[in-house]
Amino acid sequence: MKVLVIGGGGREHALCWALKRSKRVSEVVCAPGNGGISYVARCEAVHVASVAEMVALVEREQPGMTVVGPEVPLAVGVVDALEAKGFKVFGPTQAAAQLESSKGFAKDFMARQGIPTAAYAVCGTPEEVAAALAKMGAPVVVKADGLAAGKGVVICETVEQAQAEADAMLAGRVPGVQADRVVVEEFMEGPEVSFFAVSDGKQAVTVGVAQDHKRVGEGDTGPNTGGMGAYSTDTLISGEMREWLLKNVAQRTVDGMAREGVPFKGVLFCGIMLTSAGPKVLEFNTRFGDPETQALMLRLRSDVLDLIEWSVDGGAIPKVEMKPGASVCVIAASAGYPGSYESGFPITGATTFADWEGSVELFHSGSAVRDGQLVTAGGRVLGMTATGPDLKEALGRAYTSLAQVSFEGMQFRRDIGWRATAD
Ligand code: ATP
Repeated sequence: MKVLVIGGGGREHALCWALKRSKRVSEVVCAPGNGGISYVARCEAVHVASVAEMVALVEREQPGMTVVGPEVPLAVGVVDALEAKGFKVFGPTQAAAQLESSKGFAKDFMARQGIPTAAYAVCGTPEEVAAALAKMGAPVVVKADGLAAGKGVVICETVEQAQAEADAMLAGRVPGVQADRVVVEEFMEGPEVSFFAVSDGKQAVTVGVAQDHKRVGEGDTGPNTGGMGAYSTDTLISGEMREWLLKNVAQRTVDGMAREGVPFKGVLFCGIMLTSAGPKVLEFNTRFGDPETQALMLRLRSDVLDLIEWSVDGGAIPKVEMKPGASVCVIAASAGYPGSYESGFPITGATTFADWEGSVELFHSGSAVRDGQLVTAGGRVLGMTATGPDLKEALGRAYTSLAQVSFEGMQFRRDIGWRATAD
């Protein structure tokens, strides 16, 4: 089968890599892809915010399956448009993708369905914000309703700061943040985990659990990024907790969406905070995470196409088998990221990493091939990914391999997995 993957980051590189390993996949096309992806898939140009361009591409390519990587094409309705034309596509419809694209929708949905989450108020005016803050006090969290690529969440120490942040969002004064509504949310504390499930609209299955590192600096300091690294281990949460999250968060969400007439198909990525009062949902994403996917795909032993086809067509739940132990992805980014950075620097040493019996892969987040030379082409550039019998071993493999790679200004965190390896 020919499979088309939409997107062009490390997540899509890992998905293309995993799909390539399926015996049933004859060809992988990726749009727009990137320099590293071009070694495993044919790359075709497309704007992932343009439904018309994506539909035209699928009509031209006639893939047996289209896999949507990022959130933007889901939010603009590419799944609806492709399904209407009879194509098979992995991902939620525009209405179901609101679980990610509208925080207000997600919070109201969780309240209706009894899914554990922080207390909140959805506010459309500064007056409503003031009333919510008077009830909630500080610290408190202010979130823009729509997609904001991680820039729409502010943790506020005082009520005054929260009011000012919310007012600025509502008045359209925050660059990159569009908010007709904001969510004012109770502040929670505890470790965070990313719980990944896939659904066929009726049932949810667990794909894995990971933890990411959002801050640019070691010790989780400095500004937020798209993610500087992630790891996945068998011991991140207990088997009991995994079952609890599957039943009380993922399956309850899938059941609730079906009951409300918006069946949810695709990846349900549950951002969970393990608070002293029990696990609570921080947010839903309706697609795989980046860089968690790189770490998860390297551990996945079963055929990823089985899971994707089940999500689209239903039927018997496929077996999801993971390599035991741990995996890790360490992101190498351009100097200056997440602020402004330069691109076009040659990347050296990024060949293949065949050591340790195929347990190391280099997934590219932002690279390009210019005149036969691999060059940097993004803030996040590469994701060195490794598996191992335990996290320490996986980290050793990833960092040893990353030492072979270089480009001007390359920065990476040397402490990925620090919480889990601290003792
Ligand atoms: P992402 O970029 O992960 O998609 P997002 O912009 O959709 O993020 P959230 O995941 O809701 O936003 O919040 C981002 C981060 O802010 C969380 O990972 C968490 O660390 C922190 N956060 C969010 N809500 C709360 C809360 N209620 N209490 C404490 N911290 C919070």
